[in-house]
Amino acid sequence: MARKVLVLGEVRDGSLRNVSFEAVAAGKTAAEGGEVVGVLIGESVSALAQEMIHFGADRVVAVEDEKLKQYTPDGFSQALMAVIESESPEGLIFGHTALGKDLAPKIAAKLGSGLISDVTSLEEAGGNLVFTRPIYSGKAFEKKIVTDGLLFATIRPNNIAPLEKDESRSGDVSSVSAEIKDLRTIIKEVVRKASEGVDLSEAKVIIAGGRGVKSEEGFEPLKELASVLNGAVGASRGACDADYCDYSLQIGQTGKVVTPDLYIACGISGAIQHLAGMSNSKVIVAINKDPEANIFKVADYGIVGDLFEVVPMLTEEFKKLKV
Ligand code: FAD
Repeated sequence: MARKVLVLGEVRDGSLRNVSFEAVAAGKTAAEGGEVVGVLIGESVSALAQEMIHFGADRVVAVEDEKLKQYTPDGFSQALMAVIESESPEGLIFGHTALGKDLAPKIAAKLGSGLISDVTSLEEAGGNLVFTRPIYSGKAFEKKIVTDGLLFATIRPNNIAPLEKDESRSGDVSSVSAEIKDLRTIIKEVVRKASEGVDLSEAKVIIAGGRGVKSEEGFEPLKELASVLNGAVGASRGACDADYCDYSLQIGQTGKVVTPDLYIACGISGAIQHLAGMSNSKVIVAINKDPEANIFKVADYGIVGDLFEVVPMLTEEFKKLKV
């Protein structure tokens, strides 16, 4: 059934996050031949509309207001509800990001609709649109179909491939006005912590350190490897608790959930709570001194050895490949 699907574009530091293009691709599948409408919300975001169109959106609707400069649940839900009222979509797709996880349930509650969160794939099968999502901390997957009403999903970053960018694509860009009022949260300042460089939740390569790195300085070889591979540095809670790095790097059940193409776990034992955040990575490499470490059970490649010897060796070898 062809349907109109609204896809929320996420803007950070003046650019669209990659997950926006992945959401457009998911929107295309969900639209089943219908229309994919990108939605941009912010202070001055319409300049980014063409990029959403180049990645597959048929057109874009923007809501611009200085009160929308930073994300707030009230401001963004008022803006989005104004777009939903004017567009009457049959589908909604957001990224399963900090913003999407906060906003989607609020919108679903306002609309009285269901929500399929943390979707890792979406396909047509047997005449149905089937959404796949991990359950039990990634130990199993469940498949869901929507039998009635709005089709509303959040998609996990790095799982659904964006469509090829086509700069010759064109589409309309229009604006919807919304009354942004009664904000209960005012963002006065945004302070960025630790994770410089590549955003952990969107990184294609992650080098993660655990208690085995032994100190803050112990993360240096991991940072070097990450920079050679254009990746991000992550950590276990063990490393964060020991103050070797900032909690913003924590991966796992109570940290970030990541699905990079390559995850290199260095000095991480592989506790269930850590695996919950990374076991769906496409290729997992584990470096650990203990051959019995649990992390080897989920690893595609295991290296039994001292990370302080192995990591610099890997860095040197990858540097040679880059030359
Ligand atoms: P350890 O378990 O101490 O493992 C260190 C590893 O380093 C060992 O396997 C050792 O063999 C190896 N090693 C030591 N030296 C070297 C060396 N030189 N070279 C190579 N290997 C070496 N944890 C998370 O990570 N994320 C979470 O989100 C999370 N949430 C939690 C939520 C709850 C409610 C609870 C109870 C726990 C949670 N934990 C989480 C903690 C989790 O249970 C583990 O304690 C933690 O993951 C252990 O961190 P680690 O693997 O770095 O440390």
